[in-house]
Amino acid sequence: MAVSASAEQQRLLLDLQALDTKLLQLAHKRASAPEIAQVQDLEVELGSIKMRLVAAQTESSDLKLNQLKAEADVDQVVIRTKRDQDRLDSGAVSAPKELESLQHEIATLGKRQAELEDVELEIMQNLENAQNAVSQLQSNETETTQKLAAATQARDDVFADIDFEVKSLTTQRTEISGSLPVDLIAMYEKIRSDHGGIGAAMIQRRTCQGCNIAIDAQELDKIRGLPADAIVRCDECRRILVRTAESGL
Ligand SMILES: [Zn+2]
Repeated sequence: MAVSASAEQQRLLLDLQALDTKLLQLAHKRASAPEIAQVQDLEVELGSIKMRLVAAQTESSDLKLNQLKAEADVDQVVIRTKRDQDRLDSGAVSAPKELESLQHEIATLGKRQAELEDVELEIMQNLENAQNAVSQLQSNETETTQKLAAATQARDDVFADIDFEVKSLTTQRTEISGSLPVDLIAMYEKIRSDHGGIGAAMIQRRTCQGCNIAIDAQELDKIRGLPADAIVRCDECRRILVRTAESGL
């Protein structure tokens, strides 16, 4: 049996189509909200900061260990120098050869101490740079975490607004589709999924509003002859055509 529906039901089909079009737009708006990309960008940025922070913290703690070792190296030389110097000052060593050897060792130790102090200084400078990098990255991390929280909130606010509207439109949609014949809805849904989301269109000034193609005179005559509850399909796009006062029939 051919699908049929009263003129009133057919006009409701246009309301249903308007709701579906709006729902499609909202789904697109939700999926392409710029807030989504903003959140993703900040997540990537934060991940990179965290990685660099771990690397800087590792470098900093390695340098601290190196600094302790360098300090110990210097201390050792200082102790040895003091011991030699004490021995020299005590007057206990009197043999010229031994004295010369002791003085030579003190001089060598002095040179060695200067070298080790240079090493220590360089390590301290590197450590300071690494510690500065750690504090800079920690402040970047805090700042980016706050930005991410704000962006996430903004995205969720946009989602909530859209979802609220979707819920309201879906309620209206359920009400309208529930009042229409099941076979009409099935036909509408099939056409809608095959034709870019538009299943039903108005005839406006003798033109199908689905494909925007004017309906020829012969076809118009045929449509005029049909009963009000007959379902009309566009010859061009096969969408359901709804007749209204604006149809120009
Ligand atoms: Zn058409």
